[in-house]
This record gives sequence, C-alpha cells and structure tokens, in this order.
Amino acid sequence: MDSASDRYARQVQYAPIGAEGQAKIGNATVAVLGCGALGTVAAELLARAGVGHLRVIDRDVVEWSNLQRQSLFGEQDASAGRSKADAACQQLTAINSGIELTPIVTDVNSGNMESILNGCDLIIDAADNFLIRFLLNDWSLRSQTPWVHGGCIGATGQVRLFDGEGSPCFRCLVPEPPPAAAVDTCDTAGVVGAATHLIASLQAIEAIKWLSGNRSAVDRNLKSVDLWNNRIRSLTLAPGISQTCPACKEKRFDFLEGDRAVHSESAAALCGRDAVQISRPHEHNVDLAFYVQRWNTVGRVQSTPFFVRLFPDAEHSVTLFRDGRVVITGTSEITEARTLCDRFVGG
Ligand SMILES: [Zn+2]
Repeated sequence: MDSASDRYARQVQYAPIGAEGQAKIGNATVAVLGCGALGTVAAELLARAGVGHLRVIDRDVVEWSNLQRQSLFGEQDASAGRSKADAACQQLTAINSGIELTPIVTDVNSGNMESILNGCDLIIDAADNFLIRFLLNDWSLRSQTPWVHGGCIGATGQVRLFDGEGSPCFRCLVPEPPPAAAVDTCDTAGVVGAATHLIASLQAIEAIKWLSGNRSAVDRNLKSVDLWNNRIRSLTLAPGISQTCPACKEKRFDFLEGDRAVHSESAAALCGRDAVQISRPHEHNVDLAFYVQRWNTVGRVQSTPFFVRLFPDAEHSVTLFRDGRVVITGTSEITEARTLCDRFVGG
C-alpha cells in the first residue's frame, strides 16, 4: 500500500529529476501571476509536482464563463463569485497539503511588483494583459529571476522561459507593446480549453526543468502551436535579435521604473457616477472602426466619431475614446473595471 511518502515516487524515478531534483523542487518558491486558464493548470501541475511554496496572484472572481477551461474551479465558486486566488488555493490544499500556498488578491503594478514577487525562484506568466508582461520582463531582468512566458488565444499559443540573466528577453521579441486593437483577447476571439491546458503544461515542464537543476534541458527556442490548423513549431531566435534591446542590453526598465511605468493610479472611480475611468497613455489615436467590427459579435455597439461603446451585458458599458481612455459604467470597483477593459479593449 502506498503512503504519503511515496507521493513523488514516479517523478523521482524519472532519472533527470531523481531525489536531488525533487529536493530542489521542494525548496522552491514559485509565483503564478494570474489564475485563469493558464494559471489554474500550471499551479495544479506545480502543486502536484511538489513545489514547496506557491504564490497564486489574481485580482478577479470566478465567473461561469471561466469553467469551460479553468481547471481548479467549480460551479459553487462561480455561484458564490469567490476570489480566484482563494478558491484556487483551497483546491490546491486539498490536492497537496504538504506545500505552502499563499493566495494574493491584487492588481499587479509597478508599485507592488517587488513586494509580491520578492524571494521567488521563478514566475509563471499567466496574465490576461499584455502590458503586464513588459513589467514582468523588466522586473525579471532587474532581479535576475526567471519567468516562463505563456500566451493563448483561440487554439494558438506560445511558450518560452526567459532566464532573467541575459539575452534574449521578452522585449527582444516584442520591442513595444502593440496597440490593444492589434491583440485579440479571449473575450473577443474566444479560446479552447484543450489549447490553454497544453500551453500551461508546456510552461510547467520548463519550470520543472529549471527548478530541478536541469537548466541545460530548458528549451531556448520559442514553442508556438496552432492546434486547430495542426501546426506545432519550434522557432529559433536569431542570435543578433537583442543587440539594441533597451531592457536586457541597456538595462533600462521603462515599464517598471521609467515614465511608462504601469501605475495603479492610472484608473480612478468617477466621482458621483457608477463608473471608472482608465487612462492608457501608451495608446494614441485609436482606430474606433476596428472596435466596432470586433465588438459586433460580443454585444450591442454604439458608434460615434469620438468614441465607440459596447454593452457586453445588461449592467455594464465599455466606452473607448480615440485618445485611448476607457470609461466603464456599472461599477465603481477599479478591479472590476480593469478586468472589463482588458477583456474587451485589450491591455
Ligand atoms: Zn532584450
């Protein structure tokens, strides 16, 4: 009869990990940044693998539309509108009571990044917001902490570990945040659960290689998949890709400490109204016609020369102005407003 001490037996039996690798995994602290489609799956795999301490970070609550792919949540969590970080950690404790779990319910920005991630050995990027990856990349290079990028929309996705020590970094691949209109989100383009599970699984294996001391096994290529069109590719990054990168070559951390820093103050409840305004200084001259087209399949859309407005449900409206500002009505909660903005406008 097996006992609790046999919990990791099959993983230890795998020669590249062994008892030594398992001990390293057990001593590691990992932050899962975002507890949605990627975060729930990656956190479960890492908890089962015995990562000693997991921090699970998310600002949102569980909704019914999450259940199609977010593996740690059930109908009761959606009915109760439970915090994702709390609900996930409770489920993870039931899976593995021998590890330390810390739920953190917050909106990550340049001001709180250090206190949230300090002391972590590795970060899993499971964010639903593009800008946060530039912030995470800066923090990773400044603190020399590795992170595993993962992204998934529709049935496509990509994964790569960035070691935080050198080049290339994420900004070598994507030098500037793309305009939000250029980036689909799961709420506008949809997403397939089987694809998010694969991407999260690929992130988890890179993390386990790194944490168990098998750094030479880490994939230096960018893995890219399109599961609907049957393509799985491994893209070699050109050696000269990072020559002029401001982040990893010049050590300029614009999104963490520069004038483009991702601040919490960029969103404010509008006085006397059930509304929140979100400033997005990185956006200029937004193509409103594009959003009319994108939103037509999502809900009712109102279009004017100055703004375009989406009514995604009976309670809320999302108004996007040409200068990039977004006003969300139907809430005075900044967190909820940011979530709606990221979902429908993009980050
Ligand atoms: Zn770089």
